[in-house]
Amino acid sequence: MSKKVLVLEDEENIRSFLVINLKRAGYEVIQAGCGEDALAEYHKNTDVLVCILDVMLPGIDGYEVCRTLRAEGYEGGIIMLTARVQESDKVTGLMTGADDYVTKPFSVAELTARVDALVRRMGFHNVAAEVIQSGPFHLDLRARELRKNGRRVDLTQVEFALMKTFMQNKGRALDREELLSSVWGRDYSGELKIVDVNIRRLRIKVEDVPASPKYIITVRGFGYMWEG
Ligand code: CA
Repeated sequence: MSKKVLVLEDEENIRSFLVINLKRAGYEVIQAGCGEDALAEYHKNTDVLVCILDVMLPGIDGYEVCRTLRAEGYEGGIIMLTARVQESDKVTGLMTGADDYVTKPFSVAELTARVDALVRRMGFHNVAAEVIQSGPFHLDLRARELRKNGRRVDLTQVEFALMKTFMQNKGRALDREELLSSVWGRDYSGELKIVDVNIRRLRIKVEDVPASPKYIITVRGFGYMWEG
């Protein structure tokens, strides 16, 4: 099975550098130099496992591409390449539906490790038929589906992995490191902040009132807990 990765980057040097290294790491790489082309390439390759999206582009920006991919039902991994370092921009990127971000200038080894971590997340072969029920939630591990009161909730792969971790640990406080290693992989080098932002996004999808969560509870100074 070929593992496809889409690279959207308008600077040709950076793009070809990424393409060479990802190919060397065993990926089939689809590339685009602008957001419009990236979406067109995605339509031809909806089986891409991870999209690497540069933010600053001549046409529509990377955030818009990210938002569009998610709106079209893409559930795979998305990593934003950002030149900005402000916390608020990182949060903006993740709230549009990205799983992770890498700030330029980045090391290609680090980026490849992040791609590998997301791809491992997509590997759900040999999953036993298992359903976890908690309150109004019904998580079907084989069908990879979450239902709340019988209605399907659309989740990205990372959000699904978070829900699985929470629902398998009902009533137990989980710290950020534990969530990061369980969802993103043990050797993951990203910041703990991505845990918080992904949870913020997940709450919008699963809570009745996201501003006052009653399922994913914040355990102050520690992490999060699933109340169910
Ligand atoms: Ca750029």
